[in-house]
Amino acid sequence: MLVVLDVDSTLIEQEVIEVLAEFAGKQAEVAAVTERAMRGELDFAGSLRARVANLAGLDQEIIGLALQKITLTKGAEKLISAVHAASGKVAAVSGGFSQILDPLALDLGLDFYRANVLEIVSGKLTGDVVPPIIDKPAKASALIEWADALGISTSQTIAIGDGANDLDMMEVAGLSIGFGAKPRVRVAADVLVDSGDLSDVLALIGL
Ligand SMILES: [Mg+2]
Repeated sequence: MLVVLDVDSTLIEQEVIEVLAEFAGKQAEVAAVTERAMRGELDFAGSLRARVANLAGLDQEIIGLALQKITLTKGAEKLISAVHAASGKVAAVSGGFSQILDPLALDLGLDFYRANVLEIVSGKLTGDVVPPIIDKPAKASALIEWADALGISTSQTIAIGDGANDLDMMEVAGLSIGFGAKPRVRVAADVLVDSGDLSDVLALIGL
């Protein structure tokens, strides 16, 4: 069994780009791009680049400050330890940023994790990300790649997410769980969990 979690608003309670934008004093600018993306005027890569552009020139120290503002979703550690106890694996894939996800993943003992990389030059964020972009299809590819690495079929995978960016990986997973999900995900998911507690997933996967 492989459980693959989205990160922003799934594994953690925040949207990391919004936390970073707050440090940059650019919440309004970032929210405006999010609005455009939701109206379908920008694809994910375009909206990611437009939002990250607002972070140009920030000192890399804000990453450590942002990490201190991140809180794990209720039940996250319980879910991870129960899956591990059943010899399953747990992964996280994010359209957010590896500089935030990597330390969390190490702390939590995640088996696989992948996110976008904020470009940093001479200690400052450039306002760009390092390719390749982790977008909706890349999240599905990661799930398939990790299942292959474990020698299991995608039917033995569970994808958990809340946003449109999670739809492709939810499509390929054996079971898809919308967690506090947005409208499009509510329609596509096999099951919905709206309690805000990730450990409620355990009953759905027989643990
Ligand atoms: Mg999310």
